[in-house]
Amino acid sequence: MKQIISVHDLEELVRSGKDLRSVPGDALLTPSARDFLREHEATGTKQSGATPTSEASSAARMVSSKSSKNDLEGFFNSAPLQELKVQICDIGRRLWQRAYVDGNGGNIAIRVADDLALCTPTLISKGFMKPQDMCLVDLEGNQLAGINKRTSEILMHLQIMKRQPRAVATVHCHPPYATGFAVAGVEPPTCMIPEYEVFSSVAIAPYRTPGTPEMGKLVSDLVDKHNTILMANHGVVSWSHNNVEDAYFKMEILEAYCRTVLVAAQLGKPVNTMTPDQLKDLLKIKQSLGIPDPRFGLKECELCDNDGWRPGVTCAVDHESSAPASREAADPQAEALVQAITDQIMNRS
Ligand SMILES: [Zn+2]
Repeated sequence: MKQIISVHDLEELVRSGKDLRSVPGDALLTPSARDFLREHEATGTKQSGATPTSEASSAARMVSSKSSKNDLEGFFNSAPLQELKVQICDIGRRLWQRAYVDGNGGNIAIRVADDLALCTPTLISKGFMKPQDMCLVDLEGNQLAGINKRTSEILMHLQIMKRQPRAVATVHCHPPYATGFAVAGVEPPTCMIPEYEVFSSVAIAPYRTPGTPEMGKLVSDLVDKHNTILMANHGVVSWSHNNVEDAYFKMEILEAYCRTVLVAAQLGKPVNTMTPDQLKDLLKIKQSLGIPDPRFGLKECELCDNDGWRPGVTCAVDHESSAPASREAADPQAEALVQAITDQIMNRS
């Protein structure tokens, strides 16, 4: 049975410092509760922790893919959506500045109603988008508003949102270090850096042609337990239950981690990892933040399992047996041959 929310319930939420987003998406709002939410939106009053996403979602209760063209246009041009478009441009710029995207690659989407998403256009560099470039689509990828054509990779974002109801935002890009792991088919090893353990939950999806439903299916099959998916021979996609900046942070955390692991693997020394007990503490924090992880509930001995991790060839110079020793080991016949050729050349000149 659907929950009925009155204006008193909402006032109580705000009083106790809670987020209006904690109102279940399918709850029935009394007329005065609906006015209360609208007022919050119009005055721009934000309770602590509120984001434009929550304001947009209150407006979005009245809009769906079945709404009239006029209503959809009005929604698309409303103040909360304008703010989300600006956020997408900001995240696009950060992706480009950090070289996480190349050419027109990468795409971003934000869920703005039960069956509507705002997304980036095709054929525009993520570093140079304007709010008016954004597109509104339904969850099947049909474009409902916006003058530019939506990204061709939108299906993957929408399949994530359909499979994972908590996903409010998704980011896809090609950060070189993480993509290197995706190309090698190597899942980054664990138990090395706290930030990565708490905020990331990574898996690899096999390669399929970008933009196809098959690709989206393979990715979305992993999003129940993972918030960051390495797409083999392609790039990375992440989702967040908070907002688009949080989805972007998953990229920064993963890329910094892959880079650090690569450096550590080249130092010619075995890397130190945290103990299962230390990891357990981090997983507790992770669970309290509502971030998924397939290791919740595993036994201690299974927690820091890096069996699949094989550091690549490292450059280890053996100083004891360098140049002089190798000269001794050289083939005397070959040496004589080199000498003979050298003499001939010298005699000719
Ligand atoms: Zn891509």
